[in-house]
Amino acid sequence: PRPIELLNSAFADTLQQRKRVKVRDAVVHWFKWDLRIHDNRALSEASEMAQKAGVPLIGLYIVSPQDFEAHLTAPIRIDFMLRSLQVLKEDLAKLDIPLWVETVEKRRDVPGRIIELMEEWRASHLFANLEYEVDELRREAKLARMFAERGLALQVAHDTCVVPPGPLRSGTGRPYAVYSPWFRSWIRHIQENLELLELSEPPKQNPPTARKTYGKLFDCAIPPAPESKRLSDEEKKRLQPLWPAGEQEAMKRLDKFCEENIGQYAKNRNIPSTAGTSNLSVHFACGTLSARTAVRTARDRNNTKRLDGGNEGIQTWISEVAWRDFYKHVLVHWPYVCMNKPFKPEYSNIEWSYNQENFTAWTSGRTGFPIVDAAMRQLSGMGWMHNRCRMIVASFLAKDLLLDWRMGERFFMEHLIDGDFASNNGGWGFAASVGVDPQPYFRIFNPLLQSEKFDPDGEYIRKWVPELRNVKGKAIHDPYGRGAEVLAKKGGYPRQIVEHKGARERALAAYKRGIESG
Ligand code: FAD
Repeated sequence: PRPIELLNSAFADTLQQRKRVKVRDAVVHWFKWDLRIHDNRALSEASEMAQKAGVPLIGLYIVSPQDFEAHLTAPIRIDFMLRSLQVLKEDLAKLDIPLWVETVEKRRDVPGRIIELMEEWRASHLFANLEYEVDELRREAKLARMFAERGLALQVAHDTCVVPPGPLRSGTGRPYAVYSPWFRSWIRHIQENLELLELSEPPKQNPPTARKTYGKLFDCAIPPAPESKRLSDEEKKRLQPLWPAGEQEAMKRLDKFCEENIGQYAKNRNIPSTAGTSNLSVHFACGTLSARTAVRTARDRNNTKRLDGGNEGIQTWISEVAWRDFYKHVLVHWPYVCMNKPFKPEYSNIEWSYNQENFTAWTSGRTGFPIVDAAMRQLSGMGWMHNRCRMIVASFLAKDLLLDWRMGERFFMEHLIDGDFASNNGGWGFAASVGVDPQPYFRIFNPLLQSEKFDPDGEYIRKWVPELRNVKGKAIHDPYGRGAEVLAKKGGYPRQIVEHKGARERALAAYKRGIESG
């Protein structure tokens, strides 16, 4: 059975038992990647139960170094998460709600430790929002049964997607594997179920007994990142000011984007030198902003007050936020994508190259293709990369270099502040043509044309590739091929590591061979 089915059956089997569990001395909300108090489904339900029973609500966060390793979580993302936890802790303390943060080294020990804490706190109910990766769904299924055996209750909520995975089906009753009809169905489903866009109430003030009974929980300090995932002092100084953490910062950024840029989004979103996109992905990834709040805020600015029609920028932005839902639905319906397998099995037999020299040139931004190098240096420079550039560098890795797309997928996860398995896997699958609703394999981006089209004046390249700052005009896109050889050489800028036309032919042949033998 698929992990979601395991989970559903664990919940169905324990339903009667859960109904019998009486609220004891406290109710607990387990924060994961939902680090906010506003519009948080499970947190809101936990608070409601605690209020009704007149008992305190306790927040719990488990730091799991092994999970960070397994999920390749980037140090910059962990740093952002820990800073957001600090903000969350302060926000909760204002409501007399403690946030207990505990490090559990081995992930298999997490369920057992949660149960010990529940018993120590004499708590009966644990609330949590669902995550849809395979390991997480399996863990929650196991936890539901362990809780039932001990007379405890686990309550989970769908929160991270605007439309939870499940109800959207094609005419034949199957889940959609193509975005456009899925998106039409997504819009329709929301318009017919407007409660999906209703925001959850923030938690209420805890009763005065909270500080008396659970006083020591308020003293809990946010731990540093595990040593292997820690930013250096230089990185902290450089990166932290770029990414202010916490939900208030997310709302500020959302409001500013809606005020200043969303109207022009359709026009500017592909131009990496402009502030054309929202830069909110880290907030979605860490849950310091809910996708519901974002979509609703954008919709309310549309003169139609609907998700469709009206302002083109707003419609387009909502359709991009929807991609995030789409890829999370894909995880639930086809969980094998979590296991390093291409969505399309017929693409399993492509003979990838594992040329380490080419891979290093790609990761360090020294391929000799300025747009690719600028993008890779943006990633190392700020832990984030513009979407158009993600597509360009991913296509370049898989097609021009014929490197295994999973090497790029992994590198992105290890370095992105917004690294999210579903979106990253989806993006790589799209660009390498092995994923759900992908770019056809014979569509191979020409990096030079992409550069001319989306960075026509070379502003983005000049920002991130200082060796080329003095190159004038169109030569910026291909300095050695267009007469800027002396300047490029002087700056130490490398020559192209592959010749695009030949690389294109090689990729077409390798894909064709792989598909035919698959
Ligand atoms: P905006 O343009 O303002 O979009 C708003 C939000 O919509 C984003 O924050 C994001 O949550 C969502 N979104 C937009 N485009 C996509 C998309 N194509 N797929 C899924 N969600 C989308 N996004 C991640 O959040 N994490 C990743 O690890 C990730 N890896 C990617 C890897 C590749 C190879 C590609 C091609 C795309 C990847 N994306 C990923 C999608 C996209 O590039 C980023 O979400 C976007 O660049 C974030 O910038 P923004 O917040 O300014 O986006």
